Amino acid sequence: MIELRDLAFSYPDSDFGLSITGLEIAAGTTTAFIGPSGSGKTTLLNLIAGILEPDTGSVRTNGTLVTELSDRARRAFRVTEIGLVFQEFELLEYLTVLDNILLPYRINPVLKLQPEIVERAKTLAARVGITDKLRRRPRQLSQGERQRVAVCRAVITDPPLLLTDEPTGNLDPLNRETVLDILFDYVRDAGTTLVSVTHDHGILERFEAVVDFRSFHEIGPDSGSELDPAR
Ligand code: ADP
Ligand code: MG
Repeated sequence: MIELRDLAFSYPDSDFGLSITGLEIAAGTTTAFIGPSGSGKTTLLNLIAGILEPDTGSVRTNGTLVTELSDRARRAFRVTEIGLVFQEFELLEYLTVLDNILLPYRINPVLKLQPEIVERAKTLAARVGITDKLRRRPRQLSQGERQRVAVCRAVITDPPLLLTDEPTGNLDPLNRETVLDILFDYVRDAGTTLVSVTHDHGILERFEAVVDFRSFHEIGPDSGSELDPAR
């Protein structure tokens, strides 16, 4: 599902560097990315999604060698195969909740908005308990409800891979558990591969594997990945 080989990445105007000899994440599994702030967790999500390009090395995601695609092909790949939940949700205030969920279909010509997609959006909304909020704007929702909208938007295309960046970072404990239940129920039913950045060690037992980014910053020839089984 995800296969990284001899990956090196640095930002042009920063001394941050990420170097990963090898990392594999199997299809249909759930993996947590943990590590200190600034250790490159968000950067790696962006490399896996093809939003960033590595300096050297290869990224294979869902069987596609992302690092060999043209810009246009990479965008089409991302839109159809990857669901993204950002830490700040990034909902659009001028759109209703329903239109936020449908956003991928409104902004990407490769996706066609058919009536059954609107039905799917409503089904997803019902599943996460926001049916009565579909005509509202994001600011008229609670944090937990906004996060549910972001999850619905990320999975509206039924992507084989879901990448979430600290999906519970802004939530109180009750909403945190609700959103995690929603995420894990969804990926189990749909067979989606889930990779989630988290700094919340209290939720690690939900994941099948944990990748600790401290292992990418060791010195020496073996500075590769460790895919530690979750406790
Ligand atoms: P994490 O998600 O683990 O907190 P990030 O991947 O966001 O870490 O960032 C890793 C490092 O790269 C940080 O030192 C950050 O300041 C730097 N960084 C992130 N984005 C950029 C950027 N667009 N340009 C330059 N440096 C960046
Ligand atoms: Mg981050």
